[in-house]
Amino acid sequence: MIRDTARRFVRMRLVPLEAQIEAVDDVDPGLVAVLRREAAALGLYGFNLPPQVGGPGLPVEARLAILEEISYTSVPLSETVGHLPLSLTFCNEEQRRRLLPDILSGAKAVTYALTEPDAGSDLGRIRTRAVRRGDGWVLNGRKQFISNAETADYIIVLCVTDSTAPLKERLTTFIVARSNPGISDMTRFRKMGWRGYQLNGFALQDCFVPGADLLGGPGDGFAAIMASINHDRIFSASRALGIARRGHEMACAYANERSAFGARLGEHQGIQFMIADSDVEIEAARLLIRRAAKLLEANDPDGRIAASRAKLYASEMACRVSDRVLQVFGGMGYMCDLPVERFYRDARAFRIGEGTSEMQRIQIARHALLQRGNHEAR
Ligand SMILES: Cc1cc2nc3c(=O)[nH]c(=O)nc-3n(C[C@H](O)[C@H](O)[C@H](O)COP(=O)(O)OP(=O)(O)OC[C@H]3O[C@@H](n4cnc5c(N)ncnc54)[C@H](O)[C@@H]3O)c2cc1C
Repeated sequence: MIRDTARRFVRMRLVPLEAQIEAVDDVDPGLVAVLRREAAALGLYGFNLPPQVGGPGLPVEARLAILEEISYTSVPLSETVGHLPLSLTFCNEEQRRRLLPDILSGAKAVTYALTEPDAGSDLGRIRTRAVRRGDGWVLNGRKQFISNAETADYIIVLCVTDSTAPLKERLTTFIVARSNPGISDMTRFRKMGWRGYQLNGFALQDCFVPGADLLGGPGDGFAAIMASINHDRIFSASRALGIARRGHEMACAYANERSAFGARLGEHQGIQFMIADSDVEIEAARLLIRRAAKLLEANDPDGRIAASRAKLYASEMACRVSDRVLQVFGGMGYMCDLPVERFYRDARAFRIGEGTSEMQRIQIARHALLQRGNHEAR
């Protein structure tokens, strides 16, 4: 029932909006508000959150079903269904009462800002500083590539609060209202894909944040980010899988329909091989995602590496599959009349956001080498 609800909402309400958003590279904030309210009314908005912060506490199978269904549509539209940052579990009782009802109902949007001009993969290079002043903190620095910062109501900002401490204790997260006058110079990046989903840069200039808006305590920033990151990697992997799955379905339908050299495209072995490779890779990504989600659900320490494997494989797979899909469509695949060229452009970002492929490989290799070392020591 949950899968059907998500599927109907995505296919009947969101998919028809894709082409228009793609053409203008923007979404009307009024429309986003309406879609969020509709997703909330269906019980979908904030579907990934646990009950202690007011989420539905859905079992992993249900969350995976929703993820698969919402990943069918374009990134800006799937966003309206409300996969929310798990770092919100760091909210204290007062913040839960004050901030979460509006966030969970979809009335207010939240995003997170880690990346800076000189710090992306390497969080040790973060330079945005927060210094205590009176009963609050003053933030100074610059963030970039921040998802939908221009339209968010709150931005979870990662700052250095103790530059002499080890990385795990050096950083603190703040919930900064977008309306804070200390946020300035909001810019919008032009980008290759994900049209209608804005990536922004902004400055924090003597931005005063009350002490009540710390997320967790001073020095908890790294832990707050880590609380979210493995789940966000599964989300990212699912989105990549959604693009691959939809493109593959379209390629199969087209190969059954169109003919060349006296046979349907799907009867030519060269096309069959592409379709077979995509079929297997999509299934492999789905299984890696499911395994990672189940390990994380069980708080198994291997969940972290399983999430890296799923993210690495699914993001790279989506690029290979969307390339094959475009090839099956021939010239038509390159034209903007079909979403096939969009799948090709949109898939590319998944190898960068939520930890690049190289970062995942580093984690996986370290884990494998350590396991091997331990095995040999025994
Ligand atoms: C679509 C999209 C949405 C995003 N949304 C957000 C958001 O909402 N909030 C946010 O904070 N950020 C966001 N980001 C930023 C994203 O997290 C960063 O772009 C990413 O972490 C990489 O950082 P960077 O761009 O600074 O690249 P860098 O860290 O400078 O890396 C450049 C290249 O070097 C490689 N590299 C770096 N170190 C090593 C190493 N040790 N060994 C091998 N290779 C290495 C990287 O893998 C990469 O290929 C988003 C990015 C994209 C593309």
